[in-house]
Amino acid sequence: MTAQIIDGNALAKNIREEVAGRTAALQAKGIQPHLAIVLVGEDPASQVYVRHKVADSEQTGLKATLERHPATLSEADLLARITALNADPSVHGVLVQLPLPRHMDSHRVIETISPAKDVDGFHVASAGALLVGQPGFWPCTPHGCLKMLDSIGYDLEGKHAVVIGRSNIVGKPMALMLLGRDATVTITHSRTRDLKALTLQADVVVAAVGKRNVLTADMVKPGAVVIDVGMNRNDEGKLCGDVDFAGVKEVAGWITPVPGGVGPMTRAMLLVNTITAAERTAG
Ligand code: NAP
Repeated sequence: MTAQIIDGNALAKNIREEVAGRTAALQAKGIQPHLAIVLVGEDPASQVYVRHKVADSEQTGLKATLERHPATLSEADLLARITALNADPSVHGVLVQLPLPRHMDSHRVIETISPAKDVDGFHVASAGALLVGQPGFWPCTPHGCLKMLDSIGYDLEGKHAVVIGRSNIVGKPMALMLLGRDATVTITHSRTRDLKALTLQADVVVAAVGKRNVLTADMVKPGAVVIDVGMNRNDEGKLCGDVDFAGVKEVAGWITPVPGGVGPMTRAMLLVNTITAAERTAG
């Protein structure tokens, strides 16, 4: 079997077009959807990420404001800036780029963002809303993965999904989203015994670890759907995922590539959360 590719770039393009339409509809009502991005320090990867977020926003008609602060900014001053953005009615989404400098408590910073503007979906209130099935902002990466499953018309009801990795921003919310679709979910981590025995039973595998070749062809049930969240570098320095793509694509039914898979979908879902935040204020 050679797996069909779930094309994250093409799906993300469709989502951006949909967001652009929703943005135009709000603009017609006199509302300019606006994302405020706060960057503290000079982390090179963060610089690239925020640049993409601004460019993606502008491409869909969303206004994006990038606030840059030196790494020496005090936590109190950062909290004051977030509080001001919370109170600014022209701002619909507030995103603080992580990681923050060591002297700051990321948890306290994220908890200062108003849940109504928490477009990253990292606030405890957002996590709680996902847990109990109430409206809130879902974290962009797992939400993008779910959209990829939807794009192939995959019915999760009663299926067995194995999530590899249990981070608060990917693995755990992914498991909840799959449960919300009536899948049977197994969540695994570094201390899971015999991962292969579990993945071999899985109809869907989501790999979110950050290590190459966590999932190899001998670990995959024929025809399974494989979603690769990982972002790693191979020996040639090229971006690759957690999944041995060349091997697994010969066994799986569907597979997401890296690059061109979950990454562009994550970016697209931030735009969806931002336009949704703006629509909620419009009533
Ligand atoms: P993380 O916080 O480091 O979590 C990694 C998880 O993997 C942990 O739960 C860890 O278990 C588990 N793990 C480690 N080794 C394992 C093993 N051998 N078998 C099974 N589980 C194992 O990472 P993250 O933030 O979730 O990110 C995961 C990957 O996704 C990274 O490569 C990251 O760059 C990528 N990512 C991509 C996007 C995107 O847009 N494409 C977005 C976010 C993240 P323990 O909990 O036991 O330590």
